[in-house]
Amino acid sequence: MVDYSDDELLQLSGIQHFAFCRRQWALIYIEQQWQENILTYYGRELHERADDPFLTEARGTVVITRSMPVISRQLGLYGVADVVEFYRDEVGITIKGRTGFWRPHPVEYKLGQPKPDDRDQVQLCAQAICLEEMLGVSINAGSLFYGRIRRRQPVEFDIALRKRVFALAAEMHELFQQGITPPAEYSPACKSCSLIEICLPAPRAKKSIRRYLAEALKE
Ligand code: SF4
Repeated sequence: MVDYSDDELLQLSGIQHFAFCRRQWALIYIEQQWQENILTYYGRELHERADDPFLTEARGTVVITRSMPVISRQLGLYGVADVVEFYRDEVGITIKGRTGFWRPHPVEYKLGQPKPDDRDQVQLCAQAICLEEMLGVSINAGSLFYGRIRRRQPVEFDIALRKRVFALAAEMHELFQQGITPPAEYSPACKSCSLIEICLPAPRAKKSIRRYLAEALKE
């Protein structure tokens, strides 16, 4: 496996968009004209999350680190992990100023509810792969916390999920190098897409043409 260089690194957060829709990812990360929408989108997310920059706190047998920068040369991705909890365990890493070993457990916070696809699991697993590479430790599981239902869901980082993450990351790099934005293809997922107004997938475009013709005929 070839390590990616600094110049080739892509944003880890993009993998959730890529898993959801290649075109959505390309509109955000390849095409600059959508920047304002993206800043609005992420601005809202960040504001509502209100996470503290790189804060560490300890509660009994768990040490919690927030907004931890992460990177994987194998995936060619970098980003920020919302929360990484370190549980005292027999296996794990050492933490400066603390005795024993600590097992990392990434937690990603989402505002909404669980999705019908695996984009959140993919993002969390990519974070785990980054942490494994950075810390030299195996991480078998993490959690997704959904604000709407105020509950955590466990995520197991099994071989199938890891393979999917590596395949998606490789495809992201390929598409990014080519600078290609895939064409819009309408699917049920478009109804929940935050970029539908600027993407204009086919049925919406057809509808507006129909509406245009109907209005033209009335005149
Ligand atoms: S509207 Fe549909 S095709 Fe367009 S970016 Fe969103 S999900 Fe993808």
